[in-house]
Order: sequence, then C-alpha cells, then structure tokens
Amino acid sequence: MSNKVLIKEIFESIQGEGPYIGVNQLFVRFSKCNLNCDYCDTDFQTNLKEYTETDFINEINKYNNIHSVSLTGGEPLLEVDFLKNTLKNIDKKIYLETNGTLYENLKQIIDYIEIISMDIKLPSSTKMPDMFDIHKKFIETSAEKNKEIFLKVVFDENITREEIIKTVNLAKSHNLLIVLQPKTDGEVLNLKSDFISSVFYKYIEIYKNIRLIPQVHKFINIR
Ligand code: SF4
Repeated sequence: MSNKVLIKEIFESIQGEGPYIGVNQLFVRFSKCNLNCDYCDTDFQTNLKEYTETDFINEINKYNNIHSVSLTGGEPLLEVDFLKNTLKNIDKKIYLETNGTLYENLKQIIDYIEIISMDIKLPSSTKMPDMFDIHKKFIETSAEKNKEIFLKVVFDENITREEIIKTVNLAKSHNLLIVLQPKTDGEVLNLKSDFISSVFYKYIEIYKNIRLIPQVHKFINIR
C-alpha cells in the first residue's frame, strides 16, 4: 500500500439529500473535482489532511452503528486508485455521491459500491456544457452490475423543456428514480414555490418515478 490522498474531512452526520434522507452516515469528503459547477457551494479544498491507505482504513473502521459511508467531495472517483486499495478492507455499506462523469473510474471500484447517488448536470444551472452522453455511459456502467442508482437534478429558474426531456430519457432506460432538488444559494432557497411545483409537474407529466426533495440538512442547520 503506498497511495496517499488529501481529504477535507471525515465526519458522522445525517444524510440531507435524496431518498436516503435522515439516515446516519459517515461522510468522507475528498478534495478534488473535475467540474466547476456555477452553483457549487462546497468547500472541499481548504484545511486538508493527508491519509495513507492504512490510516484511512483504520479511521473508517472505527465507526460503528452507521447506515453507510458516503464518499463525497468534490468528486470521489478522482481517487480511484486509493479507493480500489482501501474499500476492499472496509466492511461497511458504501454510498457514492458522484457527478456522473468518470464512468471508466467507476468500473474499477463498482464491486465495492452499494448505492450510487448520481448528479445530472444541467447546463442551465451549472453553466457548463451538456453532459448527457457521458451520464448515459455512467448509468449503463452501473446498470450492467445491477447497482442501486438514482439521479439527482439540481435545477434553478433557467431549466429548459429540452433538459427535462433529456433527463427523463436517461432515467427511463432503467426506470431510475429522479430526485428534483431546487438550487439553494448558500442556506437560502430563493426559488418561488409556484415555480418549484411547476417544474415537478412538468416532469411528472412525462415520467412517474419522480420525487421533489430539497436539501433538508440546510433547514436544520447541520452539515
Ligand atoms: S461536481 Fe459537485 S463538487 Fe464538483 S464543482 Fe460541481 S457541485 Fe462542486
């Protein structure tokens, strides 16, 4: 074992997003990302701590009575070599929070992952190019291994009809749950409730496996 990584933080808390909202998890926040979303409000690059693979395994295995270990970031799949060497020695359910772009890296560790929370990056909210083709490959990689995967869509007032249709087309191929998450500015939800529900109904009109779930941890002021 020789790899080392810089990790922002490892902490126990309560999942505040998606269908596993409310479960207790151990969060591991990695410190790199391959994207630069306009709405990103996560500090993952300051006050980092270096972990060897052995340190990491020992640290994670200290925690008991957790639902799962959430690998988050940043983008955890950028540390695929480190994860390949460590996850096999961690006897806990692994929940991956990912931006859904690094499918070749996912292939290398997918056998260790149980649940995948995958973002669909909408150009209207990220201000980045369309990534639907890459997301499709990521979903296919997961589906080939029958992994539990759901799609998280952060949207704002600029979401387009075309994005709604493209998201649904991705989800339909494997009947995946789409979690609609209204964008927050810091702790504040600035989108109007009428607009939020109108987006929900535009989705549900063409696809039934939809849930609207805002980020709950921000309302109860936990990280
Ligand atoms: S993928 Fe996630 S961590 Fe990376 S820039 Fe986008 S929101 Fe931030």
